[in-house]
Amino acid sequence: MAIRLTSSAPDFEENLAGLLSAKREDAADVNDVVAAIIADVRKRGDAALIELTARFDRQRLQPATLAIPADEIAAEIARVDPADKAALQRAADRIRAYHARQMPTDQSWTDPEGATLGWRWTPVDAAGLYVPGGQASYPSSVLMNAIPARVAGVGRLVVCVPTPDGVINPLVLAACDLAGVDEVYRIGGAQAIAALAYGTDTIRPVDKITGPGNAYVAAAKRQVFGRVGIDSIAGPSEVLIIADAGQNPEWLALDLMAQAEHDADAQSILLTDDPALADAVAAAVDALLARLPRREIAGASWRDHGAIIVTRDLSEAAAISNRFAPEHLELCVADPETLATECRHAGAIFLGAWTPEAAGDYVSGPNHVLPTSRSARHASGLAVTDFLKRTTVARLSPDALAAIGPAAVRLAAAEGLSAHGMSIQSRLDAQNRTSLE
Ligand code: NAD
Repeated sequence: MAIRLTSSAPDFEENLAGLLSAKREDAADVNDVVAAIIADVRKRGDAALIELTARFDRQRLQPATLAIPADEIAAEIARVDPADKAALQRAADRIRAYHARQMPTDQSWTDPEGATLGWRWTPVDAAGLYVPGGQASYPSSVLMNAIPARVAGVGRLVVCVPTPDGVINPLVLAACDLAGVDEVYRIGGAQAIAALAYGTDTIRPVDKITGPGNAYVAAAKRQVFGRVGIDSIAGPSEVLIIADAGQNPEWLALDLMAQAEHDADAQSILLTDDPALADAVAAAVDALLARLPRREIAGASWRDHGAIIVTRDLSEAAAISNRFAPEHLELCVADPETLATECRHAGAIFLGAWTPEAAGDYVSGPNHVLPTSRSARHASGLAVTDFLKRTTVARLSPDALAAIGPAAVRLAAAEGLSAHGMSIQSRLDAQNRTSLE
């Protein structure tokens, strides 16, 4: 049973503070192991990849079999149920259409002093997408990572996916195919991240690595950051639901458990201004947990991290939600648009009773790679811009340099950087000489 709080109770602030600061993830310290794996891949390249894959994924590979060839991919895809393929296609189309609108435009203008200024966006040359494959596989994550990269115009898209005992989910390969992935390697863990960052004889390095993974993958991404760019490191998943009187308690219970079934560290929270709804949802969750296939995981998440909070009104619920800055925020209320204006910190907002978060995991269109662990206070979900760089561009006319250069000369002198000052002054002097002639 999840914790139940009431915002008017005298000990509410204390209990809320406990909930907000609770550490959910108990990740093992794998930094030393990962550092050794990265060093080994840097030193021995393919030989290290082959040895580590044999050890961790019980699969014997050769340099020539590290990559999954096109004919093997096609044969695996042929095994996919056509209805699954159609669903994946539908998801891919919608994700692509959404992300196409995120493409930013270049800017250029000339200011009153004659400086032509602006910026332009260019994609990274190569991106590596890590697709977890140790215990489960996630074709939806392939689409959510690869499609924004393709929309951004990334030239080379590489996927690494571990295939323990040589087994791969064909739907993962179908997703790679639909998203336009160029190369797929059957390697995982820290060794895959090292290969993507540093390259081997078989795998050319990439410029940016995205995608979720276990503690080894997360630690490896942190350790190669700088050599390559990375996306955020995702923590356990979260949903916060604000609901008012009259909402369907079974639907709300299902939405809470949809998050809880991810893993025992996930967090599901209900905020409502209606105590009767709070009771009904609590009862509906208990009934659901009796029959959910993943009830062990969902039950542990609900017991250890779940919460139902009864608030004085919906505005107070929005204020509390802002303190959680949840990854997913469902507004199951009569007027979600108005309430949404009060919700400032959330990775993704789902408006109204007909917008379950689970639809957003697959087919709505927005990205499902979102900031967790309250990082929505300062971060956003994965987007096309994660695969682009913004380069600034400036061109000064002689008049512009004459107008703004003297200020730069003064600042350079103040910083004690004489070559800086002379670099500008020499041009100003040349202009003065020309005008005297
Ligand atoms: P994984 O692919 O991340 O990890 C498998 C690899 O871990 C193996 O190939 C091996 O190289 C390495 N490994 C395993 N044991 C090791 C050891 N003792 N020493 C060194 N390396 C070792 O797959 P997984 O384990 O199933 O984990 C996937 C994770 O990704 C889960 O935690 C899941 O919750 C998360 N996930 C998150 C999202 C998201 O969007 N946030 C989506 C999908 C998956």
